[in-house]
Amino acid sequence: MERIGIFGGTFNPPHIGHIQAAEQAVAALGLRKLILMPAYIAPHKVMPAGSPTPRQRLEMLRIAAADCPQLEVSDLELRREGISYTSDTVQALKAQYPGMELVLLMGADMFLSFREWKDSEAILKNAVLGVFCRGEKGEQAAIAAKKAEMEGLGAKVELVHNRVVAISSTQMRRLLAFQCAGEFLPAGVEAYIREQGLYNVNAQWKNLPMDELEKVVVSLLHPNRVAHVLGCRDTAVKLAQRWGADVTDAARAGILHDITKAIDGPLQLTLCRAYGKILNDFSRKYPKTLHALTGSLVAERVFGENEAVVSAIRSHTTGKAGMNLLETIIYVADYMEPNRAFPGVETLRELAYTDLQAALKLGLEMTLEHLKRQGSEVSPESREALEYLGIHISV
Ligand code: FE
Ligand code: FE
Repeated sequence: MERIGIFGGTFNPPHIGHIQAAEQAVAALGLRKLILMPAYIAPHKVMPAGSPTPRQRLEMLRIAAADCPQLEVSDLELRREGISYTSDTVQALKAQYPGMELVLLMGADMFLSFREWKDSEAILKNAVLGVFCRGEKGEQAAIAAKKAEMEGLGAKVELVHNRVVAISSTQMRRLLAFQCAGEFLPAGVEAYIREQGLYNVNAQWKNLPMDELEKVVVSLLHPNRVAHVLGCRDTAVKLAQRWGADVTDAARAGILHDITKAIDGPLQLTLCRAYGKILNDFSRKYPKTLHALTGSLVAERVFGENEAVVSAIRSHTTGKAGMNLLETIIYVADYMEPNRAFPGVETLRELAYTDLQAALKLGLEMTLEHLKRQGSEVSPESREALEYLGIHISV
C-alpha cells in the first residue's frame, strides 16, 4: 500500500530543521508524499504575542517547501479554523486518500504524551505513528518503552532517526530578533520575514528609553532570569550613585548584560559567526561563557549602546585586567544583586558600598574557588584579571 505522511505543527517560523526532518521521513518511511500541515490553533499551545497570522505561516511554509517535490503544504486546518485537532485532520485525509496508508509524524515529546491527545484511539485506527528521535540515551529508552506499550494496544509505530538541526521555535525567534537566524532559514523565508516585518526583524531598538528597553529585554529573556536582570540594573544604578559613575550607562549595561543568556551553548557560536567574531579555543570549549561576548555584540549592534556600556557587558562574566569603574560596577552588581543567594554574598554586598575594588577582588576569588571545586578551567580573561589584582592562581 502506498503511504502518505502528515507532519503538523505551528511552523512559527518554519526553518531548515523542519524541512530536513520532512525529507528524512520521506526517505526513511518510503512515503509517496508528505503533507505539511500548519495548525490554525494548536491544542495546548499559546502563540507568543506578535506571531504571524496563520496565512503568513502557511505562506512561509510554502516558500520553505517549494524546492522539495515530495513535500506538499496543506491549508486544511487553516480552512477548518478553531482548535486544530489531529484526529479531525487524520479523518479528513483518510476520506481524501482511500486505499492509502497514512503516517502521522511527531516529535518524541508529542509521542510520549500521545495517549492524552483528543481521540487518540481513533487516530491509531487510521494512521501509523512516525516518531522522530534524536538518539539521546534517555529519550531512546523512553521511546522504546512507549513504543512497546502502544504496540501492545494495537498501534503501529515506526521510528525515524534524525540527525537534523534541533532548534526550538522559541530559540529561532530570539535569533531572528538578534538578526542572526539566517543559517537556519531557507533563503526565501528569510526574505519574506523581512518583507512582512515579522518577528521584530525590522524593529528599531536603538537608543530606546528605559521603560521600552525593559519591555523588549523581558520579551527576550528566559522568564526565570527577569528578576536577576532587573535586580542587576537597580543595583548597578545604586553603585553608580555611590561611586560617581554614569547612572544611565550603569542602568543600560545592567539590564542588557544577560540579553543573550537564553541562547543555548551551540547557538552562541551561531551568533558569533553571524557577527563575524573569531573565537579562541577556550570560548569554543565553553560556549556558555560566550553570552558576555554575544551580549555585548547585541547591545552594540541591535540596541545601539555606547562603548562604555558594551565594554561593561563584555567583561561581566570573566572580568579582565584593569577594569574601569563601570565595568567593575556591572561585574559586582551581577554578583550580589538582591536575588543572589550563596555563602559570602552579604560580605560582598557590604564591600560593594565601602570598597568596590575589594568587592571585585572577592568576586574574582570566589569564582576561582568555584571553578577549582568544579574542576573547570579559568578563562584567559579571568586569569589576567586575577593576576592584575595580584591574586595567585594555582589551577
Ligand atoms: Fe551573565
Ligand atoms: Fe547575570
